[in-house]
Parts: sequence; structure tokens; C-alpha cells
Amino acid sequence: MSDTKTPGALRDAAAALRRELEARPSLGPKERRAIPQQEMPAQDPRERRGNMEEVALGYSEDQAVVESLRCLGCASRPCVAGCPVSIDIPRFLAQAAKADFDGALATIRAASMLPAICGRVCPQEKQCMAACTVGRIEKDPEKSVAIGRVERFLADRTRSAADRTRSPAGSPRAASRPAPKAPPTGKRVAIVGSGPSGLTAAADLARAGHEVTVFEAFHKPGGVAVYGIPEFRLPKAIVEEEARSLEELGVRVVCDFLVGRTRTIRELMGEDGFDAVYVASGAGLPKFMGIPGEDLVGVFSANEYLTRSNLMKAYDRGRAATPLYAASRVAVFGGGNVAMDAARTALRAGAAEVRVIYRRTEAEMPARAEEIRHAKEEGVIFDFLANPLRILGDEEGRVRAVECLRYGLGEPDASGRARPVPLPGSEYLLEADACVVALGNESNPLVTATTPELAVNGRGNILVDGSGATSMPGVFAGGDIVQGAATVILAMGDGRRAARGIGAYLAREPS
Ligand SMILES: Cc1cc2nc3c(=O)[nH]c(=O)nc-3n(C[C@H](O)[C@H](O)[C@H](O)COP(=O)(O)OP(=O)(O)OC[C@H]3O[C@@H](n4cnc5c(N)ncnc54)[C@H](O)[C@@H]3O)c2cc1C
Repeated sequence: MSDTKTPGALRDAAAALRRELEARPSLGPKERRAIPQQEMPAQDPRERRGNMEEVALGYSEDQAVVESLRCLGCASRPCVAGCPVSIDIPRFLAQAAKADFDGALATIRAASMLPAICGRVCPQEKQCMAACTVGRIEKDPEKSVAIGRVERFLADRTRSAADRTRSPAGSPRAASRPAPKAPPTGKRVAIVGSGPSGLTAAADLARAGHEVTVFEAFHKPGGVAVYGIPEFRLPKAIVEEEARSLEELGVRVVCDFLVGRTRTIRELMGEDGFDAVYVASGAGLPKFMGIPGEDLVGVFSANEYLTRSNLMKAYDRGRAATPLYAASRVAVFGGGNVAMDAARTALRAGAAEVRVIYRRTEAEMPARAEEIRHAKEEGVIFDFLANPLRILGDEEGRVRAVECLRYGLGEPDASGRARPVPLPGSEYLLEADACVVALGNESNPLVTATTPELAVNGRGNILVDGSGATSMPGVFAGGDIVQGAATVILAMGDGRRAARGIGAYLAREPS
């Protein structure tokens, strides 16, 4: 998959192919396998590195239909097992292939309430696409049916104003409208955190007739989807809209409310009268390397760097009240999605040179293949098999360089990836005036520190049983606070599981 053709050329080619395919009486597996995967139209890399607008432009209707026709509809349905929330993928692709777009979105929404977000940021190549029969036959998951791109098309189509005026099925929001609510149960549930996990649990619990209040520490709901993932990958208007759909269900969202400070969980369940609590407070505590120089001016955690950029629009250096630190050479430490987001944000904030320093090779990088490709196209430089030893400062205490050590690869470690082996004597110096440490996050200890009844593991993650129940009666947990830093879809899956668990718990509790 590469962004070599213009968006117009990709769309024209898909329109011609759709006409040709629809003219045939039927399509067998062989014909379906011969259909080329539809490339995602994208902004030109030379332009997009200078703006914050979304990189991927989305499929046209023709592309979505043609891509859906690639699904073989195989009996074993491995893609459904590959999806953490078990979306009926073959069904929605079959509906989309027949241009029944409202039906297809309704199929997705039966299992996932955030399709516009998941269609953009889910690591499909490691989940549904990894299991897809087409990719297996081709021996390349990147050639699988591009399930997320079709999902994104379906969600965006319903959002588009033009579509609203010409929907043949009447109300264009019909397919996206949440399922009807059950009668009120009289039970009250508090949710801590408005990320994907909290929002999913809130929707399911509200639909089941419970009165739900979401408490969020920041001034905007959405969690990492708002403050972590940059605008050029996930426009904030989309997250806001998905979060707003909760209001239609009567969910109350209270921002600027820090559970553990404003109120404790015990107070919520005691004086405040909540019958159950779902803790979905994420993993917002950044990890550092512990190397000399991390306290210099110009060193940031990716968390701070991205939160400033996303929440305070700090990338807009001319207008932002607290603009991003001015730097022309930025070194980013790490190899995950967070590192890619930080590096690409630094480019857009005006850095002339951005380097990602990663201990292993590209093959071991945890970041999505698409993000790595986009970063390279935009001009991010990769120093593979290298690791920072110390950060050097000038006489004013500002970053001026990073000393790195080169690495080789050894035997696989516990993660199954080749172990990075330091090569003594291979030190080298890189000039830099800012460093972003993107080594991942741990759980924020505030909720657990103020609620000693909650059992945690050695990394501070809350321990839960198969229903999401914690060691404290009536308190459930899920998402990154349980799994460690994971993914949007896994966090949503936990939210759904906990909503079921809370429902069962409330049904057992006397009113
Ligand atoms: C930069 C970045 C890029 C990422 N890219 C991807 C990607 O491409 N694909 C993907 O699938 N995943 C990605 N992830 C991971 C994904 O975003 C998370 O796994 C997911 O958001 C976890 O959801 P959550 O609901 O558990 O927590 P979060 O999204 O972290 O939400 C938790 C919320 O709880 C609030 N909170 C915390 N403590 C309290 C408190 N005491 N009181 C009240 N509120 C509180 C926080 O402010 C936050 O809004 C990325 C993560 C980061 C940081």
C-alpha cells in the first residue's frame, strides 16, 4: 500500500471498476480475489507535513463498494474472532458491497459505538486483517480486505452533511442513532474517565436503563482520543461528535472532576448514592529513561508534548497562548504509535529535522505499519539499533545534543522480539535542541492510592475478574488502567464487558 496515486485518480479507477463488477451476473471467490485492494487517498506528504489536517482522506463510495466486494464471505469468519468487540464483519461488508450503507453501519454499531474512531486508529493489521482469509491466501495481512477503511467510510458517510439531505432511507442518522433505551431501573452508575472504555460502558449502561454520570479530570471528554492522538490522525470534531451521541442517551458528563481529589470512590458510593462505579482512568503516567540530562530544558514526555499540542493547540506557534517549545532538531525516543505521533507533531510544529531513536529495527517496531510509512514519507529520520545514553545541555541548561549507543540484535526476549544488545564503544553524538521521551505510559496512581480496597498488580494496574469486577464490591474497572497501555478497541471491549458485569451486579443488589 503506498500513496503514489492522486486521490482523484484512485477514485476514478474505483468508479470504473465498480461499474465493471456490477455489470457481471455474479462474483465467485476467484473474481473477488482478483480485485485490487483499494488504496487510501491521502494528502501529499510535502503539503501535509506543514499542516494539522487529517492525512488519510477516506474512501469514496465506489472504493468502499469495491473493497467490500473483496470479502470472500468465508464460513469460518476468522475476522470476527480477530475483532476484540466481535463486530459481524462479513455481514457489514456484504451490506456495504450492495450499497446498503445504513444497514452496514447499523451492523457495526450493534457491537461498537465508536466506528469513526476505530476505523481510523485500530491496529487492524494485527487484529481483524491479520485473521482475514484473503490476507492469508496472499500471505500478507496488508493485502487483506481493508476492513477499517470501509468502517470509516460508513461512519463518515452518516456524518457528512451532504448525505443528510439525500439519504433514501429517511433520516440519515437512523443507522447511527443509538439503540432504544430500556425502562429506568432506578440504579445510578458513576464512570471514572471519559476515554473509549468509559464512553462504551456509559452507552451500554444507559441503554440498559441505568442513570449514568461520567466524571472526567480534563475539561473535555474523549480521553487519549482527544489529548493524545493528534488531529492529523483523528480529527477532534469526530471524537466530540461520538462523545455527544452519549447525550442522546441521557448520560451526564461532568468535566474538571478529579476522582480521588474532588470526590473519592468511597464518597461516590456512600454519600453521593451511586450503586456501582466503573474505573476507566487510563494509563496517563509517562515513563522516563532515567538517563542523565532528562531534567534539561527542552526534554518532554510525549504525554506532555502531545497534550499541549492537542488540547491547547500549542502546535499553532503564532497564536497559541502556550506554544510548543521552539526547536529545530528534535530527537524522539521510542518506537510505538506515541513516538510516531510525537515525531510527526514536531515536524508540523516547525522542526527542520526530526529523528526517531529506537533500540531495535523497523521489523520490531510496535507502531502501526501505516504510521511508520507516513512518518517516513513526511521526512522523519529513523536511527534504528540505537539508544540514548545521556542528554547534554548548554550553559543555560537547554538541550544541545544526545549521546547514543549503537545496538545489535540478539535472541528473542520474553516479548518474542529480538533482544537489543548494546555494542560497547559505539557511542555517537546527535545534535538536538529538544527531546521527546515516548516510552509508553503507566497507570496514574491517584485512584488506587485513594482507594486502598482496590487490589493492583506490581505495575499499579487494577486487578479484575472475568466480568471486570475489582476486589471492592460494586466497583468495576477496565481499559488501560487494567491492561496497561493497550488499544482503543481493547479498552472498548473492556467497557462492554464491565457494563454487562455491572448490570448483573445491580440486578442482584436490593433496591
Ligand atoms: C499518543 C497515543 C497514540 C495512540 N495511538 C493509538 C492508536 O493509533 N490506536 C489504538 O488503538 N490505540 C492508540 N493508543 C492507545 C489508546 O489511545 C488507549 O489504549 C485508549 O485510549 C485507552 O482507553 P481508556 O478509556 O482506558 O483510557 P484513556 O483514553 O486514557 O481515558 C482515560 C480518561 O480518564 C481520565 N482520568 C484519569 N484519571 C482520572 C481521575 N482520577 N478522575 C477523572 N478522570 C480521570 C483521563 O483524563 C482520560 O480522559 C494511543 C495512545 C497514545 C497515548
